[in-house]
Amino acid sequence: MVFSEPETLEEVCHLLSEQPDARCLAGGASLVAMMNAGLLAPSHLISLRKIPDLANIQALPDGSVQIGAMARHADVARYDGFTGAQRIVAAAARRIGHPAIRNMGTIGGSICHADPSADYPTAITAADAIVNIAGSGTTRQIPASEFFVDWLETALEPGEIVVSVVIPPDPSGASVHYEKFTRADGDFATVSVAVCLRILDDVVKTARIAVGGIAEKPVRSPSDENSLIGHPLTEDAIQDFSASLEPLCNPIDDMRGSADYRLMLMPRLIHRALSQALKTQLTSDLEGTA
Ligand SMILES: Cc1cc2nc3c(=O)[nH]c(=O)nc-3n(C[C@H](O)[C@H](O)[C@H](O)COP(=O)(O)OP(=O)(O)OC[C@H]3O[C@@H](n4cnc5c(N)ncnc54)[C@H](O)[C@@H]3O)c2cc1C
Repeated sequence: MVFSEPETLEEVCHLLSEQPDARCLAGGASLVAMMNAGLLAPSHLISLRKIPDLANIQALPDGSVQIGAMARHADVARYDGFTGAQRIVAAAARRIGHPAIRNMGTIGGSICHADPSADYPTAITAADAIVNIAGSGTTRQIPASEFFVDWLETALEPGEIVVSVVIPPDPSGASVHYEKFTRADGDFATVSVAVCLRILDDVVKTARIAVGGIAEKPVRSPSDENSLIGHPLTEDAIQDFSASLEPLCNPIDDMRGSADYRLMLMPRLIHRALSQALKTQLTSDLEGTA
């Protein structure tokens, strides 16, 4: 196996396009585990470690936050420049694995691995994030909702890499909550729910709700979210919303829970996540007026 440490994105994309089974190496948390288990045997490993600025997290002039593909989960978890709904990304980063994994894994590696039980896919889908992609002499942007395609499969074409994830500004100042159910501390989610919520004068103004671990990619339904807008967030409304997501789910049986168990968990976690986000908003509204 060949190991390279290129210093430019162009070189990475060139190497990738030359050898179809070459793989980028980010934190190595998933890739090396799969190689050790004999599930993958790439002919060429291309480290992204020496590409300048790929680990940066920065606020852009329009209020977006750009997270470089090589930013570690721990750095995203403690970044304090997120505002409003953007904070769902840090909330999810804080729930990834345990400290060793958060110091090793990167956002680029996590979303390219595209495990539907991982934390970032659900969070960046709820955040309406944009994924910046580079290929040989090309760049393109796609919404997170289109980046995840299938189990462990993304919209990346051969020879392309993820450069950054951009979290758009949130003028509504939504509250967030990331609810994750695991069988063991530090594990991937059995089911997770990412919520961005703003309620004003007792009616819902913003509702973005994504569910992970329940299908081949994060489940989100903007049309069902829209039906919450302009109405009070009642128990019935939450129940109807959860029921409307069920036809979009395609859960599997695995060691983290059966498909039926996941479907039973989903409405309970949605309820808990919305209630927690609402509680956070009420507390901060109260502190704002105190
Ligand atoms: C014990 C353990 C517990 C874990 N718990 C959790 C958890 O609770 N929640 C969770 O979400 N995750 C969890 N993970 C996964 C962890 O978050 C990994 O960091 C993540 O899945 C992969 O990130 P990485 O940077 O290590 O990528 P790597 O393992 O280096 O790469 C993963 C894949 O992405 C590709 N890749 C990497 N970067 C790019 C890029 N920029 N462009 C294109 N392709 C790229 C690689 O070629 C490879 O195919 C856990 C992992 C372990 C080992």
